[in-house]
Amino acid sequence: MATQKMLKFVTVGKETPEKRDAAQRSQDFDEIYREFAAQKAAEQASRCSQCGVPYCQAHCPLHNNIPDWLRLTAEGRLQEAYEISQATNTFPEICGRICPQDRLCEGNCVIEQSGHGTVTIGAVEKYITDTAWENGWVKPILPAMERPESVGIIGAGPGGLAAADVLRRAGVQVTVYDRYDRAGGLLTYGIPGFKLEKPVVMQRVEQLRAAGVNFILNCNVGTDLTFDAIRGQHDAVLIATGVYKARDIEAPGSGARGIVKALDYLTASNRKSFGDDVAEYDSGALNASGKRVVVVGGGDTAMDCVRTAIRQGAQSVKCLYRRDRANMPGSQREVQNAEEEGVEFVWLTAPRGFTGGTEVEGVIVQKMRLGAPDASGRQSPEVIEGADYVEPADLVVQALGFEPEDLPGLWGVPELAVTRWGTIKADFRSHATSLPGVYAVGDIVRGASLVVWAIRDGREAAEAMLAYLAQTASVAAE
Ligand SMILES: Cc1cc2nc3c(=O)[nH]c(=O)nc-3n(C[C@H](O)[C@H](O)[C@H](O)COP(=O)(O)OP(=O)(O)OC[C@H]3O[C@@H](n4cnc5c(N)ncnc54)[C@H](O)[C@@H]3O)c2cc1C
Ligand code: SF4
Repeated sequence: MATQKMLKFVTVGKETPEKRDAAQRSQDFDEIYREFAAQKAAEQASRCSQCGVPYCQAHCPLHNNIPDWLRLTAEGRLQEAYEISQATNTFPEICGRICPQDRLCEGNCVIEQSGHGTVTIGAVEKYITDTAWENGWVKPILPAMERPESVGIIGAGPGGLAAADVLRRAGVQVTVYDRYDRAGGLLTYGIPGFKLEKPVVMQRVEQLRAAGVNFILNCNVGTDLTFDAIRGQHDAVLIATGVYKARDIEAPGSGARGIVKALDYLTASNRKSFGDDVAEYDSGALNASGKRVVVVGGGDTAMDCVRTAIRQGAQSVKCLYRRDRANMPGSQREVQNAEEEGVEFVWLTAPRGFTGGTEVEGVIVQKMRLGAPDASGRQSPEVIEGADYVEPADLVVQALGFEPEDLPGLWGVPELAVTRWGTIKADFRSHATSLPGVYAVGDIVRGASLVVWAIRDGREAAEAMLAYLAQTASVAAE
C-alpha cells in the first residue's frame, strides 16, 4: 500500500511537477511516511516471540512493559500500546530515539541472542508515542487537586523534568530553575538534532509549562540566586544539575585557537538549529565546514561530535581513541553509523601535543598498545615510544568526558555530602541527600550517565518527595 502510494507520488511528480504545490507534496510525503512507519512498526512488533522471560524489560532501566506494548502494536491497538508505554516512561519518544538500545533492551532481546536480529524496540517505542502526539492521545497534565506545598528543582534536564511531571500531576507547586535560556538540559543543548529533534523536547517542556510548572531560566544557582534562598522558598528541593566540568587535554600547545571543548562545539550547533545568532559558529571557530577535524575521545559525546562535523561539511573527520574498538565506552551502533558516514577511527592513539603557534595546525599523535589490566580490570593503554606522527588538523574537539562541579563549594553548603569523585551522595532508592528535604538525581549523582537513568531517578525521587511532604505536613498538623 505504502509502496503503491510512493510510486504514484513519484509518477505524478515527474509528469506535472509544476502543477503540484509544495504543501501538497509535503502532505503526500507525510502520509506515505506515516504508512511506511506504521507498517514497519507492526512488522517489528510482530517479530516479538512473547518469550515469557522478558530480558528486554529487565534490562530497561524503567522496566518498561515491552512485550505488552509490542503485542498491542502488532494487533494495531496503538492507543492501548501508548497507555502502557507511558505508564512507566515520562518521555518514551525521547528514549525511543536516543537510548543506547544495543546495551539495554535490544541487546538483551532473545531473538537477538539467538542470532536473528533484535526487534527494534526503541523504534517502535518512538513510533507509538509520536503517533499518540499526532492523534491527541497525549493528554495535558491535570493535577487532581492543588496542594499548598512547593518544590524547587535546580536543573531542567531529563532528571529534573521527569520529577516535575510526577510532582505536578500530584498537585504540588513546582518551580524549575536553570542557568540556560531553554529547558531540556543536554536534551536541548548536548545531544545533536539529527538524533533528537528539538521540537520533540520542546513539546514536553510546553506540556509542563501548560500544566503550571514555573520555569525560571537564565538563573545560575550559586550566582544569580543562592542555594539557601531556594531552600528557604520551597518545602523541598531537588538537585538535578548534571555534570559539566569538561576534562581537558593536558599537552603542549593545547591552548591554541582551534582546540575546542565538545560541549561548546555541540551547543553552538544546537543553538544554530534553533535559529539563534551564534557568533562563534558564524566566525568558523565552532564550525567544522571545510576543515580537517580531529575529535579526541571514544564515548558517546565523541560520536556526536564526529557525526556533527560530517553534517557541517568537514573536509575530513578522524577520531583518536587510546584503546581499541572492543574497549571503547561509546555505543558500537554509533561507531558503525559514524563509519558509514565517513568518519575514520584511529584506534590506540592519543595526543602527545599540538603543532602550530596560536592557531592549531596538527596533532602530534602517539601510538598505544593495551597492557596489563588495571584495578578495574580494564587493560591500560601504554605508549609505544618512537612511533609518533603528526595528523594535520584545523579543528580539534576534546571529548574526554565530564566531571561534577564542586557544588558544596560553589553554593556554600559544606554540609552537602559528596563522594570522592565529587558527585552528590544520595540514597539509591529515595535519592535523599545529607540535607533534610533535599534530594538529588541524574548525572550529578551517577556521574555522566544516560537519559533513561535520569528519568528513572527523577520519577523515584518525586515519589519520595511526595512521601516527605506528606510526612512533614502531618507532623506540622499534630
Ligand atoms: C553530547 C552528549 C550526548 C549524549 N547522548 C546521549 C544519548 O544519546 N543517550 C543517552 O541516553 N544519554 C546521552 N547523553 C547523556 C545524557 O544527556 C545525560 O545522562 C542526561 O542528560 C543527564 O540528565 P540530568 O537531568 O542529570 O542532567 P542534564 O541533562 O545535564 O541537565 C542539567 C541541567 O542543570 C542545569 N544546571 C546545572 N548547574 C546549574 C546551576 N548552578 N544553576 C541552574 N541550573 C544549572 C544545566 O543548565 C542543565 O540544563 C549524552 C551526553 C552528552 C554530553
Ligand atoms: S526506555 Fe530505553 S531501554 Fe527502555 S525500552 Fe525504551 S529504548 Fe529500551
